[in-house]
Amino acid sequence: MKLMTKKLNKNYEESNLAHKNDDAPCDAIIIGGGLSGLTLTCLLAANGIKTKTIDIQNPSTALDDAFDGRTTAISFGSQKVLKAAGLWDKADKHACPIETIQIMDSSRKESLLDFNVNEVEGTAFGWIFENRILRQAMYERIEELSETATLITPAKAIDFEITDDYSAVTLDNGQTHKAALIIGCDGRQSFTRQWMGINTREWSYKQRAIVCSVIHENPHDNIAVEHFRKEGPFAILPMTDDKDGNHRSSIVWTEHAPFTNSALEFDINTFNIALTARFPSFYGTVKLTGERFAYPLNLVHAHDYTASRMALVADAAHGIHPIAGQGLNMGLRDVAEIADLIITANNNAEDIGADTLLDQYQKNRRFDNMAMAGATDSLNRLFSNDYLPIKIARQAGLKAVSRINPVKKFFMNQAMGSAGLLPALIKDQ
Ligand SMILES: Cc1cc2nc3c(=O)[nH]c(=O)nc-3n(C[C@H](O)[C@H](O)[C@H](O)COP(=O)(O)OP(=O)(O)OC[C@H]3O[C@@H](n4cnc5c(N)ncnc54)[C@H](O)[C@@H]3O)c2cc1C
Repeated sequence: MKLMTKKLNKNYEESNLAHKNDDAPCDAIIIGGGLSGLTLTCLLAANGIKTKTIDIQNPSTALDDAFDGRTTAISFGSQKVLKAAGLWDKADKHACPIETIQIMDSSRKESLLDFNVNEVEGTAFGWIFENRILRQAMYERIEELSETATLITPAKAIDFEITDDYSAVTLDNGQTHKAALIIGCDGRQSFTRQWMGINTREWSYKQRAIVCSVIHENPHDNIAVEHFRKEGPFAILPMTDDKDGNHRSSIVWTEHAPFTNSALEFDINTFNIALTARFPSFYGTVKLTGERFAYPLNLVHAHDYTASRMALVADAAHGIHPIAGQGLNMGLRDVAEIADLIITANNNAEDIGADTLLDQYQKNRRFDNMAMAGATDSLNRLFSNDYLPIKIARQAGLKAVSRINPVKKFFMNQAMGSAGLLPALIKDQ
C-alpha cells in the first residue's frame, strides 16, 4: 500500500488534478474535499454540473499513510451513491463484506446477539473500506471528469460574498471564485457553517476513539464485532487480507476521559497483549500494524442546513458518535439528495441556488439525520453504562431481540442502511 500511495502521489503532482489558477466560471463550489465533498463533486460533475472543490490538503498529503487510519463501513444505501458517482467499481476489489455482526456485552465472553446475512436478503450487511482507498478512487474519478470537475488545493476558504444572483468564495491564496451555489462539506468545525451564522446543538462525549489496523493469526470469516464495555464500545471490523496474505481487521477502541493509562501510550508489546485479550479467541494472536490514531468524539447538529445560495452537507451539518458506523452513510444520503435536486434543476434550466431547492433539501434530510443522531447518542449512553440494573435490562433486551424474528430482521435492515430514503436518480442504480 505504501508503494502504491507513493506512486499515486507522484502521479497527482504531475497531473492536472490540482488546478491552482482556474478562474473559469462554474455552477457549484464545494468547500471541503473529504469523503463527502469528493463524492458530491463526482456525482455533480458526472451529470454535467461544473464544480470547483476547495480543500486545505493536497491529494498527496490526504493519501499518505499517516493522514487517516480509519476504515468506513459502507452501507447498502451508500453503495448505490458510490455507484452513481462512478466510484464503486474503482474501489470494490478492496471492499471486505460484513456477513455476520456479533454483539457482545461487558465481560461476558460469548456473543449475546448474532446477525447473519443469511437471515436477510442481500449478500452483505455492508463493506469495510480503508478511507485511503475511497479517497484514491475519488481522485481518479475527478481526473476522468476534468471537463466539469476542478480541484483547487491546497487552499482554504476564508470569506464568502452572497448576492441575489451569485455566491462567491475568497481563498487564502487571494483567488475569488463565483457560482450559483456554495456547498459546505468542510467537516464538524465547518468554517462555512460559522460564516453562515448557523448555531449548533452540540456536546462532547468526553470519549475518544483510538483507531488502527491489526493482523491476526486466523481468518475473521467476515465477522464484525461490537463489544460494549464499560470504558466504551470496542469494535472489530473485517478488512481484506494484505498483499502478503496476512488476515487484517481494523479496530475502534473507545476510551473515556481523562485518558489516564491510555492504550494510545501503551508500548507495542503491551498493546498487542491487550488487543489479543480483547479479541474473541477464534482470531488467535493479534498484532498492531502501522500507527494508532485518536479522534475526539462529540455530537454536533446544525440548526439549519441552508442560507441564501449556501448549503451544508454531511459532517458540516451533523457529526455523530461512531458507535453504529453511520456518520458518512448519513452524509452520503445528504450528498444524494442535494445532487438529485441540483441535477434536476439544471436539466430544467432552473436556478440551482434557488431558495425553493434549498428548502426542499433541508426538509428532505433533517428528520432522518436527527433520528440517527438521537439513536446513536442513546446507544452510546445505554451501552457505556455499567450500572447493574441497566446492564441486566440491556442484556435481557438483546436476548429478546435475538429470539423475536421480526424485531431481529428490523435491526438487520437498519444495519444495512435502507436505500428507501434515496432519490430515484441514485436508488435505481
Ligand atoms: C473513529 C471513527 C470511525 C468512523 N467510522 C465510520 C463508519 O464506519 N461508517 C460511517 O459511515 N462513518 C464513520 N465515521 C464518520 C465519518 O468518518 C465522517 O462522517 C466522515 O469522514 C465525514 O466526512 P466529511 O467529508 O463530511 O468531513 P471531513 O472528513 O471532516 O472533511 C472535511 C474536509 O474539509 C476540509 N476543510 C475544512 N475547512 C476548510 C476550509 N476552510 N477550506 C477548505 N477546505 C476545508 C478539510 O481539509 C477536510 O478535507 C467514523 C468517524 C470516526 C471518528
